[in-house]
Amino acid sequence: MTTSDSVTQHIDRSRIVEMLTTLIRFNSVNPPGNETPVAEYLGGSLRQAGLQVELVSLAENRANVMARLPGQGKAPGLMFCGHTDTVHPGEVAWSHNPFGAETVNGRMFGRGTADMKGGVAAMVVAVEALARAGIPLAGDVIIAGTAGEEVDCLGASHLLQSGGMEGVGALVIPEPTDLALVTAHRGALWLKLITQGKAAHGSMPELGVNAILHMYKLLQVLLQHQFGYQPHPLLRLPTVNVGTIQGGTKTNVVADMCQAMVDIRTVPGMATAEVVREIQELINHLKVDIPDFKARIEIVNDKPAITTDPQVPLIQAAQRTGQMILGRGLTPQGASYFTDASVLTPPTGVPTLIFGPGEAGMAHQPEEFVDIDKVIQAAHFYAALVLEMLGS
Ligand SMILES: [Zn+2]
Repeated sequence: MTTSDSVTQHIDRSRIVEMLTTLIRFNSVNPPGNETPVAEYLGGSLRQAGLQVELVSLAENRANVMARLPGQGKAPGLMFCGHTDTVHPGEVAWSHNPFGAETVNGRMFGRGTADMKGGVAAMVVAVEALARAGIPLAGDVIIAGTAGEEVDCLGASHLLQSGGMEGVGALVIPEPTDLALVTAHRGALWLKLITQGKAAHGSMPELGVNAILHMYKLLQVLLQHQFGYQPHPLLRLPTVNVGTIQGGTKTNVVADMCQAMVDIRTVPGMATAEVVREIQELINHLKVDIPDFKARIEIVNDKPAITTDPQVPLIQAAQRTGQMILGRGLTPQGASYFTDASVLTPPTGVPTLIFGPGEAGMAHQPEEFVDIDKVIQAAHFYAALVLEMLGS
């Protein structure tokens, strides 16, 4: 029996289905999250397979699970990081229970099947298989099941701050890519823009300063603005979306306050400080034309874009693994969404691969599903990737 056969025999369809079913039936909708039962379940399973497991409590009923398969210390570690929370099922009725894990024609339906409990089940079963096969590995394999990715990357932030990335030389994030090789994703910079006016009676608007009209002017110039950026070969342009707007108190009162939430999707190289400075410039220009124009910017969420050089060993190994396991060449691609890598990758410079069984288009949608065959393929891919990177 070859090394890879001895691992493959432990990657079992029924085991993967059982684990994914259990994960979907835990409601870990964030907010509030409630990831602790998920972390305990994964921790229990990984401990049984022989890994060193630690549950890291972050808040009430919020926890990361960390597990380590020790290697020989001759190479840096390889980390798999998957989040255990999901978004809400939404207001649209599903034809399948979002927490039921119903399977129809090889597709499992449920909130989080694609984003990203399918990926989590695949990475856990793959590393358990490596542990059970008992193959010596040059470096550690680390599993991180993180809480809170869908809101504020709480779990990944704690992981970084507590030194969890020390000794990690490569990072794999099983977010949904439909088994494509993603080496770069855009960032998300969420800004709150606030315009301030002066209240007056609605019958005498000339005595007030209308904050809503000033917001209108600011959004107009913002949406026409071309941000400075370096084109990235895999990513689309930066984008701006005005997500919400609130202003004014009554029909017959001049609005003295208006605020808008703006979602800017950045490409690698766009520094937050520079983006904010460019918007401040727009405000300064408006102030010249409109003397009582008052606006300010607050940063609400700052998740940088990431990019990994396709020439690094991780990506080269992933391409060989794709050829071996999927029977096809994988060319590096970019993704629009952000991941825990926005927290873990920029400060550490660790080469990062996003690769998972779900379809990105399924994330956050009603009737979310994952193809069980793809989850199994992902598990085989992860195990083979570890052998490529750390096997002898
Ligand atoms: Zn996700």
